Amino acid sequence: MENIYLVSLGSVLGAIFGSFFNAIAIRTVENRPWWGRERSLCPICDHELSSLDLIPLVSWLALKGRCRHCKGQISLRYPLVELLFALWTGAALARWGATFGGLGAVLGGWLMMLNAMTDLDSGYVYDKLAATIGIVGIAIRFFGGLPAVLDGVYGALAGGGVIAVIIVISRGGMGWGDATLMAGAGVLLGWKTAFLASYLGFMIGGTVALAMIATKKAGRKDSVPLAPFLAAGVMIALIWGPYILDFWYYTPGWPWS
Ligand SMILES: [Zn+2]
Repeated sequence: MENIYLVSLGSVLGAIFGSFFNAIAIRTVENRPWWGRERSLCPICDHELSSLDLIPLVSWLALKGRCRHCKGQISLRYPLVELLFALWTGAALARWGATFGGLGAVLGGWLMMLNAMTDLDSGYVYDKLAATIGIVGIAIRFFGGLPAVLDGVYGALAGGGVIAVIIVISRGGMGWGDATLMAGAGVLLGWKTAFLASYLGFMIGGTVALAMIATKKAGRKDSVPLAPFLAAGVMIALIWGPYILDFWYYTPGWPWS
């Protein structure tokens, strides 16, 4: 029963943080400061928005996706990101509850989605945003003692190493930002789950890329942003990793077991 409260509260919190991280992604790509006195403005008419216009999901629905002032159409991106963050946070907490695993999963998902957004917007993975996941991961792993910390270090080598090998072999196509991102995620995931997440990310990314080439939505030479697929792989691993690893008789280690 208390899980229902946790999941509901988490979903609301997720929507709020979705709105926040969406703004961070947009400001990072536009090279604007994250903090400071800058007010939120309507992206179309530049009218200053009140707090009533900024309630995640609710405002967009109440205003039917239009600005109160200029009636311009507000991008679907805002409610979609808020919804995705709400669903993710609820799912991660339903899976892990109020544990270190739950905290790590929630934060890891949020940060992977942040990096997916900047990659989609600019084709660029920002090292400082990617590395943040590693900082979160190591901070949480300290609570699990030395074996948990070491698993995080091996996780960074596993996650970053897989991408580094591919960069060297393929001579481009993938950026070092992707390696930083998976090294950071690897700290949080631990080495076994980091390999699983990379594998899932490549499978999903490869499938989508082949589908886009087959339907002529992309050419063979086009570069596809990889972070959204890596984010999907990491997030699947954060929820179902232990089940999947169990097929190979692996236990993923603290805090996932
Ligand atoms: Zn407006």
